[in-house]
Amino acid sequence: MVKTIGHFIGGKHVAGTSGRFADIYNPNTGEVSAKVALASAAEVGAAVDNAKAAQPAWAAKNPQFRARVMMRFLDLAAKHREEVAHLISMEHGKTIPDALGDLQRGVEVAEFAVGIPHLLKGEYTDGAGPGIDMYSMRQPLGVAAGITPFNFPAMIPLWKACPAIACGNAFILKPSERDPSCPMRLAELFLEAGLPEGILNVVNGDKEAVDAILDDPGIAAVGFVGSTPIAHYVYSRATASGKRAQCFGGAKNHMVVMPDADMNQAVDALIGAGFGSAGERCMAISVAVPVGEATADALIDKLVPRVEKLKVGLSTDREADYGPLVTKQALERVKGYIDLGIKEGATLKVDGRGFRMQGYDNGFFLGGSLFDHVTKDMRIYKEEIFGPVLSVVRAKTYEESVALVNDHEFGNGTAIYTRDGDTARDFASKIQIGMVGINVPIPVPLAYHTFGGWKRSGFGDLNQHGPDAVRFYTRTKTVTARWPSGIKEGAQFSIPTMR
Ligand code: NAD
Repeated sequence: MVKTIGHFIGGKHVAGTSGRFADIYNPNTGEVSAKVALASAAEVGAAVDNAKAAQPAWAAKNPQFRARVMMRFLDLAAKHREEVAHLISMEHGKTIPDALGDLQRGVEVAEFAVGIPHLLKGEYTDGAGPGIDMYSMRQPLGVAAGITPFNFPAMIPLWKACPAIACGNAFILKPSERDPSCPMRLAELFLEAGLPEGILNVVNGDKEAVDAILDDPGIAAVGFVGSTPIAHYVYSRATASGKRAQCFGGAKNHMVVMPDADMNQAVDALIGAGFGSAGERCMAISVAVPVGEATADALIDKLVPRVEKLKVGLSTDREADYGPLVTKQALERVKGYIDLGIKEGATLKVDGRGFRMQGYDNGFFLGGSLFDHVTKDMRIYKEEIFGPVLSVVRAKTYEESVALVNDHEFGNGTAIYTRDGDTARDFASKIQIGMVGINVPIPVPLAYHTFGGWKRSGFGDLNQHGPDAVRFYTRTKTVTARWPSGIKEGAQFSIPTMR
């Protein structure tokens, strides 16, 4: 009998009652390792009721009280880091060192949240008018929700929940149904850290739970991360029901390689950023754009042996470059894109489809693949593959490479490799992308900056973490105050002006 994962509501594990479950796989073996309950609208409603009941007392605590809960959570996250990384690795398939990084990048947002009291301070104008003072304050929204993808089961739930909670909200997390064990464990650790029951609830589920979140009038804001069609759907439905929404979608991240780039550094960057985590990262580099035929030929010559030598291994193998993909469906989808690339006329320089992991024939493993001569009109260029496949699109000039990146529908991340400051500066200024790396392949901003893509990689006005997270999870109230001794005039019928 495989174990069953329910929900975490009101500080307690509760079994699912909908009668619907999804299978969770061990991606190394392909076996079902657990079943996760899929919540009904009624179960989402119960979580919202718990959150609503708990939130006013939490909001009434002073900000440093809430920050201290974050501090204790940081201690617990450090103590349990190997255990959490193991949970991630056994459901997602990323290697343990990579899973530790997944947790670490989430924990950094909890560290940022410790300082949120500073950002919650309002503004004050002494003497805004005769006897009048004016001040603004930031207040929590009430109950917020986060709907998160499979590929960062620690980092993205923490990006969503920590700032929301530190600002005084209660939070409903609906993690991916493919790897829910890590978010469930993080919720337990928050409870142990002293977070009151009902402030962080985890409701597992699929579209039914998501739709219930989007329609529930008790939820004031929704943060989403996942694929673009669902991001757009969630944004439209959440905003139509009057909620705040920030929804981040898919990506196709290009790395431009200029003729003057340090070629060895550029190749290292492409190998790590293209194939780490089996390419299942929204900031993975999936397109290399060498500028000029000579640069392209030199790049391909160096890339081919490196892609051939990638060490694909079990997710528990700390020496492996990357592990299996998350599900058989994901494996088949990525293989389908490699078949398609050949049909579309791209040159497959390295073919990962034949890779077999000895003793693990049913695992979701795929070798690294490399396409050359990919063109703008091909579906393998236009669509997100989300696997260990790197495409090379050759550009004749720097201007052509910039136009290529800017014309793509996605705008999450990009990078340029060059030793020329003018070029780098021009690129950073002209490129229509939310996060830009200059000789940095995965430019994920640190917790105190904000993270967010442009174009169809992000819907909504505010980014994740950093100061934008505080703006997203609070609303501003402005108070204009004058005490009776300051009142000197009678009724005023025209709009008040303060001269
Ligand atoms: P996904 O869109 O399939 O799922 C994301 C979430 O939406 C999950 O919680 C899932 O249960 C829910 N969901 C799925 N189908 C739904 C539907 N029809 N209606 C309502 N909810 C639904 O994404 P995924 O496969 O889990 O994650 C991979 C995707 O996430 C990639 O496209 C990747 O680029 C993207 N991603 C983006 C960022 C970013 O910051 N832009 C970060 C990480 C991942």
